Amino acid sequence: MNQETALLTADPNGYARAAELLRGGELVAFPTETVYGLGGDATNDMAVARIFEAKGRPRFNPLIVHVDRIETVRDYVEWSHAAEVLASAFWPGPLTLVLPIRPGTGISGLVTAGLPSLAVRVPANPVARELLKAFGGPVAAPSANPSGRISPTTAAHVEAGLAGRIAAVLDGGACDVGVESTIVGLTDGPILLRPGGLPAEAVEQALGEALARQGEGEPVTAPGQLASHYAPGAMVRLEAERREPGEVLLGFGRVDCDLNLSASGDLTEAAANLFAHLHALDETGKPIAVSPIPERGLGRAINDRLRRAAAPRD
Ligand code: AMP
Ligand code: MG
Repeated sequence: MNQETALLTADPNGYARAAELLRGGELVAFPTETVYGLGGDATNDMAVARIFEAKGRPRFNPLIVHVDRIETVRDYVEWSHAAEVLASAFWPGPLTLVLPIRPGTGISGLVTAGLPSLAVRVPANPVARELLKAFGGPVAAPSANPSGRISPTTAAHVEAGLAGRIAAVLDGGACDVGVESTIVGLTDGPILLRPGGLPAEAVEQALGEALARQGEGEPVTAPGQLASHYAPGAMVRLEAERREPGEVLLGFGRVDCDLNLSASGDLTEAAANLFAHLHALDETGKPIAVSPIPERGLGRAINDRLRRAAAPRD
């Protein structure tokens, strides 16, 4: 991956160009009030796969979807009283809510990592808002840094880490908050999933109740390790050269199979298809055999996910 990374100015031309790149499935880094985000069209599997590729993420943890208005969020998730309270108190702003995803949203399965919930945020940064308005759809965006490096708070930080790997950086100056958004889960009782730019106390005060804390005293679990992480109901067998009787085969490369992650052996395409194909094969109710996937580039994240799916369950 070596492309020219354009530096776009936050003016009407810059927004229009950034939106056009997003529509074409390209990646655009943009400022939010927390940190710079690495944005891709959340409904485009290939664009979302490219996010993981550009960051060199070793796992498919679910991504936060950014939208321009509270009303739009309700198209994607099951709304609730608590969601209404927090959204009216803190949006736009550095708060992410995790809510049950609605069916038929068109959001890529790679965004939710196959989970039945979706993380959403309406950012306050005016440049982010103009971009989201110009694009007119949901934008998936983790922080715009290579995996394992410090989150970027200027366009120059983004360029230092990702130049040559993304289509553009929209320059909106320095981020105000400088730390990631606070994440509150509302799929069951309210829970603090990640402390961040909005103090947890402010959330508790608005809700009128205490937030549960995730695994207090335990090391913070990476999202990919969450117990709630998607696992197929069926048994999964890895490194399968062929399908045994009764199995369905999730293929990779030139194999005779039920569904192919990428017949041409393209790992970005394979990542883009992973969750949708796993779900589809899971619906057959049969054990799932999976072709060997090379342990390089996005193949590492694909294998990480497949190993979790294949691990013995409690
Ligand atoms: P990052 O991509 O680094 O901004 O991190 C995104 C965060 O959002 C991760 O810490 C995830 O735990 C959290 N997240 C995103 N989607 C979900 C979801 N559906 N359920 C639970 N947590 C989520
Ligand atoms: Mg990050």
